[in-house]
Amino acid sequence: MENRAMIQVQGLCKRFGEIQAVDNLEFSVREGEIFGFLGPNGAGKTTTIRMLVGLLSPDSGSARIDGHDVLREPVRAKQSVGVVPESSNLYGELTALDNLIYMAQLYGVPKKEWKERAEELLKDFNLLDRREGKFQGFSRGMKRRLTIAAALVHRPRILFLDEPTTGLDVMGARGLRGVIKKLKEKGVTVFLTTHYIQEAEELCDRVAIIVKGKIRFTDTPGGLKEKVKETEVLEIRPQPFSPNLLQLLEGIPDVEKTTFVEDRIRLYGDSVHNSVCQILNRLEAKGIKISSIQTMVPTLEDAFVKMTGVDV
Ligand code: ATP
Repeated sequence: MENRAMIQVQGLCKRFGEIQAVDNLEFSVREGEIFGFLGPNGAGKTTTIRMLVGLLSPDSGSARIDGHDVLREPVRAKQSVGVVPESSNLYGELTALDNLIYMAQLYGVPKKEWKERAEELLKDFNLLDRREGKFQGFSRGMKRRLTIAAALVHRPRILFLDEPTTGLDVMGARGLRGVIKKLKEKGVTVFLTTHYIQEAEELCDRVAIIVKGKIRFTDTPGGLKEKVKETEVLEIRPQPFSPNLLQLLEGIPDVEKTTFVEDRIRLYGDSVHNSVCQILNRLEAKGIKISSIQTMVPTLEDAFVKMTGVDV
């Protein structure tokens, strides 16, 4: 049986002056899914979340959360969601345990359940051994984990996460992705925005790609990659590297798009291999050496770049 929709959005629009930040969005998120909202800076991701959690009124359109209309039944809709604020709302001088107990109190959780829920969350978020540690002494990743845990004390069925791993180091981000996966196992529906395409690929059941306020594609990560499987991706490591080299490669037949990742240039097209000599000649004519060249199977990031024409 198809899971029911936990988030249902129809014709949602929001304009700020000249900017159409969100433009006629339509999508739904099924119960138990991790749904990724992926897009470049300024695409409208945060604006969408703010409307879904009742922090911002849409100009038009509607959104239902767990069956409740966010405008007509805002209190019921909010009861179903956990929202993680951009900057933590926890208290530095309180311990991890006391912060969660305090949040449980604020959310109206019955007193006899405060401690039990707090400890359960500390366990789920791998913080049980730090329960008596003060929040101010935590690492950035631990702080982020505890802040997310605090958004779950009232056991919401949907969690909104706006770029949860931004600013974390590799281990912090990995730890956080682990707890997001655990939430899914517990049946929580997760709406996640991210810039990190690999993160979306690892975590999400489905991904919507949003550019300039509009959803361009919605599919599973595998489905999105399938759409570009005919595309060839050629990766060259020039020495010395400079982003300006992309201009040198403009106008080569069979090359539809160029971009760079760290010190490597990527070229996309349905038959880029036909133009390899021309590409190398252009670079060598400027005294640029090539230290490696390889063809690659398109990743979700490549699919994103190819389908939207936008670099992440
Ligand atoms: P990022 O990944 O950079 O956080 P985003 O996809 O979350 O970007 P939004 O923050 O939703 O994008 O912004 C979408 C557009 O709306 C941007 O052009 C932004 O400048 C504009 N915008 C957002 N909030 C406001 C506001 N309160 N007043 C004016 N313009 C705004």
